Amino acid sequence: MHIAIIGAGISGLMTALELVEQGCSVTIFDQQQAAKAASWAGGGILSPMYPWRYDSAVNALAKHAKPLYQAWNEKLAPQTGIDFQIHETGMLILDEDDFEVGLNYAKQHHEPMQQAEYLQQEQLEQVNPHIHSKYQHGIYFPQIANVRNPRVLQSITTYLKQHPKVQFHEHCPIQKLNIQNNKISSITDDFDQKHFADEYVLATGAWSKHWAEQLNLEIPVAPIQGQMLLFKTPENWLPTMCMNKVMYLIPRNDGHIVCGSSMRNVGFNITPNEAVKHNILDACFDMVPELANFPIVHEWAGLRPSSPNGIPYIGKMPELNNLWANFGHFRNGLCMGAASARLLRQLMLNQTTIEDAKPYSPQHLTQMDFAY
Ligand SMILES: Cc1cc2nc3c(=O)[nH]c(=O)nc-3n(C[C@H](O)[C@H](O)[C@H](O)COP(=O)(O)OP(=O)(O)OC[C@H]3O[C@@H](n4cnc5c(N)ncnc54)[C@H](O)[C@@H]3O)c2cc1C
Repeated sequence: MHIAIIGAGISGLMTALELVEQGCSVTIFDQQQAAKAASWAGGGILSPMYPWRYDSAVNALAKHAKPLYQAWNEKLAPQTGIDFQIHETGMLILDEDDFEVGLNYAKQHHEPMQQAEYLQQEQLEQVNPHIHSKYQHGIYFPQIANVRNPRVLQSITTYLKQHPKVQFHEHCPIQKLNIQNNKISSITDDFDQKHFADEYVLATGAWSKHWAEQLNLEIPVAPIQGQMLLFKTPENWLPTMCMNKVMYLIPRNDGHIVCGSSMRNVGFNITPNEAVKHNILDACFDMVPELANFPIVHEWAGLRPSSPNGIPYIGKMPELNNLWANFGHFRNGLCMGAASARLLRQLMLNQTTIEDAKPYSPQHLTQMDFAY
């Protein structure tokens, strides 16, 4: 079977990986360089930030993140020489309003946090000596990890590019889905070139609404900008991820610390904004004042593919026999990415699925309402 995948972010690349490992041939298209959109820009926390605030459908996929990334890293690293750097720092949450609900949630749901602890000030200081002394207590999830997402993408891309059953078309925007007899017969790129496959996958992240008119479907996915800052501290300086008021610090093991993030509805604009930068800085220095002693080495913004309740669309698109979806992961596309791709592969190849696929079904997408 030959599959065309439109979009080379985490959703498209991991889908390609899953399908290739089952013996399929895959052609991947991206309008820009592969692996440089939201999936590069994200933080790589391998759990929804406050799992109790999310729909169970989000947590059902997120809970597979760590073991699936570990398994893929073990398989790919010897061949690509690139380590995903899965960093099990644990996560400290300082929002007092979330303490009780968070601990209760963790008692009822072992995943995705695995373990939860309430920390008094003294224990808090032991777990992370850089937290501002005004914080008297916190909740701690010692097993939440983060992954170095740019390296994950680099490793998968390197693996796929040397694979005999994979073709890449970068800087090749797909404009049109050509439909004949309830099937996609081909896709047309911006240069008027047609490409043919047996099955087609839309993994187009924040750009997914582009298909709405052609498919006569409402596609409620829109770009929501998130901005990030990168600090450089000494190796292993900050021992845990820290979170307060939806702002976070994510330490990598070489001393880089990713800080974010904002939520702005500014279309497809990815220019970092000075006022937003200062909000992020205020929130981060409030948690870890000593961070102000270290340099900011990079800043950027990316576009999350928002969707109702943050639940992605995974599965067969309505009406057409060979068009599939894997988009709309909003704030959790990195932690859901590996399981989303596995689920889609299992649906495409008629295999038993890792989770019940119903909550993600694109069959829920409704027909466009034409105003006459
Ligand atoms: C600041 C920030 C922080 C985040 N932090 C986290 C986190 O800690 N944990 C987490 O789980 N998630 C996080 N996310 C969310 C996560 O990054 C996204 O949900 C995820 O990357 C979406 O992946 P994707 O592959 O669907 O989209 P993308 O990575 O955006 O990939 C879509 C690709 O499709 C291509 N494309 C679109 N249209 C076309 C077309 N017509 N033709 C060809 N190519 C096309 C685009 O060029 C792009 O490369 C964060 C996001 C941001 C912005």
